[in-house]
Amino acid sequence: MTASAGSAATPAPLLTDALVIGAGPVGLWQAFQLGLLGLSCQVVDALPQAGGQCVALYPDKPIYDIPGLPVCTGAELIERLLTQVAPLAPQFHLGLEVDTLSARDGGGFEVQASPASATHGGSVASVRWHARSVFIAAGVGAFQPRRLKLPGAEALEGSQLHHHASETPSLRHQHAVVLGGDDRALAWAIDLAQSIATGHADAPASVTLLHRRDVYTAEPPRIEQFMALALAGALQRRIGQPAALRHDADGRLTGLAFTDVEGQLRTLAADALCVSLGLSPRLGPVSDWGMALDRKLLQVDSARFETSLAGVYAVGDIISYPGKKKLIVSGFHEATLAAHAALDRLSPETPHPLQYTSSSALLQQRLGVPAEAGRKKIE
Ligand code: FAD
Repeated sequence: MTASAGSAATPAPLLTDALVIGAGPVGLWQAFQLGLLGLSCQVVDALPQAGGQCVALYPDKPIYDIPGLPVCTGAELIERLLTQVAPLAPQFHLGLEVDTLSARDGGGFEVQASPASATHGGSVASVRWHARSVFIAAGVGAFQPRRLKLPGAEALEGSQLHHHASETPSLRHQHAVVLGGDDRALAWAIDLAQSIATGHADAPASVTLLHRRDVYTAEPPRIEQFMALALAGALQRRIGQPAALRHDADGRLTGLAFTDVEGQLRTLAADALCVSLGLSPRLGPVSDWGMALDRKLLQVDSARFETSLAGVYAVGDIISYPGKKKLIVSGFHEATLAAHAALDRLSPETPHPLQYTSSSALLQQRLGVPAEAGRKKIE
């Protein structure tokens, strides 16, 4: 899976049968169903990784109500969905927030996305699609990292201030300060401390985690591991509120001043700020695309999961219909029916009899199942 990259000029549109907005569990299952039906599919998400709420909000929490999977964590579920969709090869565009969606004269839609604010430091280019159909699986909105609200912080984004561990460049020889007290913040600090212990080439010189309270909102095993590393001196633990950034004469960040629990101003050496102050969903542009809404949720019919704009479907937590339940399993059902509805709309002249993956040679071929294996399973 790669993030999009390209030139800064207005890009030529990418052509696709289906564009899925949102790579949460429901968007990933949507891509699977579309691929299974032989439709080309691209997936876009504002976050730098797939997984939606499951990965952003509860990667290590166990889920017990996925059919056939008695228990799996949020991150495991997404790994399994990515493995399942891989043979169908949808193209992923991560770190891009869809801003506009409009119907094109003559059919289909023009959709534009630009780099999700400040998560990529300019390494991802805007993308434009001409899509024959669109599937909105935008959940509770595009997740944005909460910003560090200090003068001068914004200017450091992408160089010395980072919001995602997966996008942080080498911190070799730098003093890294992780800000936050949630699971992501602790995991980030632990990873950095372990990279020092293992002598990794990109390891920082030191790691400090600064949090406003002496209480962490993380999974108990994570807190235990973090405290053990702090006790062993592999990382530093500080309690206090960030107060100001310190720079050298060239404007390079050199330190972070913070107010400790006694109200004293102290300064930490800091060349890199790893900010993990939580994620907040922003419904943002979805509500501006002209489709009927019901209390900020897209209205759909519960047979085709089409919005008030024909050819645009919506599934998962973003929708409302009588009896809707915000559960992953409900989203899987919605995405399955939406894919079938889109196929009927895109090629109305062809009949589309229902086929089973257990017996259809065509579906097995699309899934890359060796012919021999498919036959054996039927016998
Ligand atoms: P999301 O997971 O919210 O994914 C939507 C994605 O769309 C996001 O990644 C977002 O960045 C992206 N996006 C939005 N707008 C844009 C845009 N304009 N451009 C680009 N990208 C955009 N459900 C269960 O069934 N069982 C459980 O045990 C369970 N436990 C949960 C525990 C917690 C703590 C929470 C918070 C939820 C839980 N849920 C559970 C609910 C479940 O996670 C949601 O129902 C599910 O994630 C919805 O999936 P989705 O794909 O519709 O949306």
